[in-house]
Amino acid sequence: MAEPLEPGLYIVATPIGNLGDLTPRAAAILSAADLIAVEDSRVTAKLLHHIGIKRPMLPYHDHNADKVRPGLIERMAHEAIALVSDAGTPLISDPGYKLVRDARAAGRKIVTIPGPSAVIAALTLSGLPTDRFLFAGFLPAKTKARREALADLASLRATLAFYETGPRLAAMLGDLLAELGDREAAIAREITKAYEECVTGPISDLVARYADAPPKGEIVVIVGPPGAAEPASADAVDDALKEALATASPAKAAGLVARATGADRKALYARALELQGK
Ligand code: SAM
Repeated sequence: MAEPLEPGLYIVATPIGNLGDLTPRAAAILSAADLIAVEDSRVTAKLLHHIGIKRPMLPYHDHNADKVRPGLIERMAHEAIALVSDAGTPLISDPGYKLVRDARAAGRKIVTIPGPSAVIAALTLSGLPTDRFLFAGFLPAKTKARREALADLASLRATLAFYETGPRLAAMLGDLLAELGDREAAIAREITKAYEECVTGPISDLVARYADAPPKGEIVVIVGPPGAAEPASADAVDDALKEALATASPAKAAGLVARATGADRKALYARALELQGK
């Protein structure tokens, strides 16, 4: 018999393919929850069957969330309500943030049980920089809106991550090439499943590969950051330093120009003194 849980909201991440990825803590919380709010009860029933339990479920998805939410918030005062999505981490391109927002406003206990998420799994496979990344979810389906969304991201010095579907991949890759240039990218597909693969290369290669061959299954697209900016020329650095010296001390001017151009601050300081005849 599972230990009773304190009343509140339990946000439970579930596997993105391989059911073995359900954490022991997630299984324990699902076993003990009074109610599980689910996207699709058929999908969650399979997961519950896998761990040998049956719990009451209530659909909570984009189409009924506004209607169902107040009742769930009410029940959280005296019951343990778990929230799951069909796969991965709830709230990540899935419903849930308004439930958390309202539960917080109502003073309910909120606990997260972290686990798989396709975006993080894909980043780990991609071999692209992970120190700064922006997750942009699903891009708009229509070309014009998709191009506009990409144009907004083009100058960002970060790896970009998107969810995408097989049938739309070729068109999306064409727009990535047009708006972001030929950056390094990775297509991570069917992660943790039998046909898991991660195809990497410049976007132009990926455009060619997928042009007439839409891949099957679930996909995450990772795009590397723009290449390092061209270093400023020695003349340009000198000009910037002279301009800065018109209003700032040699030390301050050297600092400003070093930040703006990436040039060495000590060398700039020595040059600033030289320019001032010191
Ligand atoms: N909440 C989920 C998460 O944390 O990953 C994402 C839900 S979103 C509705 C579903 C999308 O996630 C899919 O269309 C696909 O882009 C991506 N995805 C989910 N599972 C995946 C997998 N096993 N391999 C690759 N992408 C996956």
